[in-house]
Amino acid sequence: MKLIPRLLKEVVRNVTKKPATLQYPIEKREIPEGFRGRMKWSAERCIGCGLCGMDCPTGAIELMPLNVSSGGRPQYRRIPIFHYYRCIFCYQCVEVCPTKAILPTTEYDLSTYDKSKVVRKPSKEELSIIANKFMKRSGGK
Ligand code: SF4
Ligand code: SF4
Repeated sequence: MKLIPRLLKEVVRNVTKKPATLQYPIEKREIPEGFRGRMKWSAERCIGCGLCGMDCPTGAIELMPLNVSSGGRPQYRRIPIFHYYRCIFCYQCVEVCPTKAILPTTEYDLSTYDKSKVVRKPSKEELSIIANKFMKRSGGK
C-alpha cells in the first residue's frame, strides 16, 4: 500500500522538474569547450601539399590535382575536397596541415537531404588563388 504515495511523490517531482530534453532546433544546447565541428578551409593558406587527404582515416578528403605548371615543367598540387558526410571529426587534418589552412569550428548542424550541401569543393576563384601563388613563386605569370 506504500506504492501509491511513492508514485504520487514521483509524479509531483517530475511535473515540477525541467525536462531533460530540448526543443531542438528552437532550443540549442550550449557547445562545450573543445567541441569539434565542421572544419573551415582557406584557399589563401593552402599550399596544396595533400597531407590532409593522405592522413584522413575515413577517406573524407578527396585530393583533386591542380595544374600549376609554369615555364614548361609540369607541376601539380593536390587540393582537398571535403566530403563531410564521411567525416568522423577526428581533426587529424587540422593537426597535420602545415599552414593552418584547415580551421576548427563548432558548427554541428549538418543534417540535410541534399548531399551536395555536405561537400566542400574549392571554387574557381579559390583554385586560381592557389595557382597564382605557385606561378608567382616560380617566376611565371
Ligand atoms: S576530421 Fe578526421 S575524418 Fe574528418 S576530414 Fe579531417 S581527418 Fe578526415
Ligand atoms: S589544407 Fe593544408 S594539408 Fe591540406 S593540402 Fe592544403 S596545405 Fe596541405
